[in-house]
Amino acid sequence: MGDKVLETSKTASLVDETAVAAFKNRLRGELTRPGEAGYDEARKMYNAMIDKRPAFIARCADAADVIAAVNFGREHDLLIAVRGGGHNGAGLGSCNDGLVIDLSLMKGIHVDQAAGTVRVEGGCTWGDVDHATYPFGLSVPTGFLSTTGVGGLTLGGGLGYLTRRYGLTIDSLLGIDIVLADGRCTTASADENEDLFWAVRGGGGNFGVVTSFLFQGRPVSTVYGGPMFWELEHAATVMRYWRDLILTGSEELNGWFGFHTVPPVDMFPKEYHLQKMAAITWCYTGDLEKAAQVFKPIREAAPVAMDFAGPIPIPALQSMFDGLYPPGLQWYWNADFFTDLSDEVINLHLRHAEQLPTVHSTIHLYPINGAAHRIGKNDTAWSYREANFAQVIVGVDPDPANNERMIRWSKDYWEALHPYSAGGAYVNMMMDEGQERVKAAYRDNYGRLAQVKAKYDPQNLFRVNQNIRPG
Ligand SMILES: Cc1cc2nc3c(=O)[nH]c(=O)nc-3n(C[C@H](O)[C@H](O)[C@H](O)COP(=O)(O)OP(=O)(O)OC[C@H]3O[C@@H](n4cnc5c(N)ncnc54)[C@H](O)[C@@H]3O)c2cc1C
Repeated sequence: MGDKVLETSKTASLVDETAVAAFKNRLRGELTRPGEAGYDEARKMYNAMIDKRPAFIARCADAADVIAAVNFGREHDLLIAVRGGGHNGAGLGSCNDGLVIDLSLMKGIHVDQAAGTVRVEGGCTWGDVDHATYPFGLSVPTGFLSTTGVGGLTLGGGLGYLTRRYGLTIDSLLGIDIVLADGRCTTASADENEDLFWAVRGGGGNFGVVTSFLFQGRPVSTVYGGPMFWELEHAATVMRYWRDLILTGSEELNGWFGFHTVPPVDMFPKEYHLQKMAAITWCYTGDLEKAAQVFKPIREAAPVAMDFAGPIPIPALQSMFDGLYPPGLQWYWNADFFTDLSDEVINLHLRHAEQLPTVHSTIHLYPINGAAHRIGKNDTAWSYREANFAQVIVGVDPDPANNERMIRWSKDYWEALHPYSAGGAYVNMMMDEGQERVKAAYRDNYGRLAQVKAKYDPQNLFRVNQNIRPG
């Protein structure tokens, strides 16, 4: 490798066919190229707004395949993208004309009952993890959908139902196996390559291909949770009540706030179909016997129109919305962190939420305090430890004809709220928004991230991500 940081890559058509054949032979997994059977299926991303055409898709079966793929990509100066679950809004799990290192065949999970830990291979989704851990009475803090990849979500931080109780997903991460830019496979943990372990906890896929993650499982099994809906006339009251509850209430209670259009499906009473409503989806991990008592004042804060909260296995809660958001929809993301939600901000929310442009479009506010605040802002790469809410505004629809309308709504909404934000956003909920926004996400951690990047990936081989430039 030279010293130059790679900003361009060779076109894939220049790669010698003998080298391609040798690479293919080395793989236990599959190599797929344009024009071959299965290519169009393999290149599809969760977000149908992204339409990339890689030259090579290497579906790796194990860490040895990943090493071969990284070496092949580097030796031929190819642009490299790494695909975990393929959910990324900006489509950073794929690239045009380069090599996609696709981990989706790497599905191994091992629960160590004695240690209460869970080893998860890089191609797993959170549904795979929930499936494997639930019978052992364990859960790894994850996100709000089960189809999201473990890889991208974890490396970016990880927000979910257990954030207030057990912190971000990275706060349960004990170690990783990673293939570096030079093709070496190494480990990182609190005791080994600590600089790398610091960086991957929030720094995304910038440092290598993580082939497996070791998590601390948490003793969570059946919780009291699910959504409650209110008519918009009560939204301001509910939002203020929820804000105060999140800022001052017990860490056993979590609930994310959203504005939604009620989908016309049987689960909801007909009179609410297509009505715009406010909702909170709860997750209470305390004593189930006390749950009715905990939720009594919530149910009395304003008249609840639809109430689906009750005892539920955590895997069911974490997959409850999978069906509403299948792969193949158009998605446009805008995000920011907030430390507070003033009444003025709440009024702005109401104004824009009333204009939700399509049935699937939505705005979510995720609590990120409690246990997540007990880690310092420089202790991991994830900087916004003092923020209380992560906001994401998503324009979503099956029909690309609606893109312009929903993108406009999402941008206008974001612009109105941004001046009140903490300044940066959660990297996993951003589009490809340029260096300034990446720096705003990491603040004073960016300099250290750039140094770690320079040590482990000096040529910026891994740059299809929210990119940290080697410094
Ligand atoms: C419907 C939906 C719901 C979501 N809900 C949540 C949520 O509740 N909480 C939350 O925190 N986030 C959530 N997200 C955001 C999610 O965390 C990001 O989209 C994340 O990037 C997805 O990870 P992935 O592995 O599926 O993505 P991919 O598109 O496969 O990858 C995303 C990025 O991560 C890198 N990457 C992935 N795996 C690896 C690996 N093993 N080694 C190195 N780099 C890797 C890729 O190179 C790429 O840059 C949601 C996204 C969607 C679409």
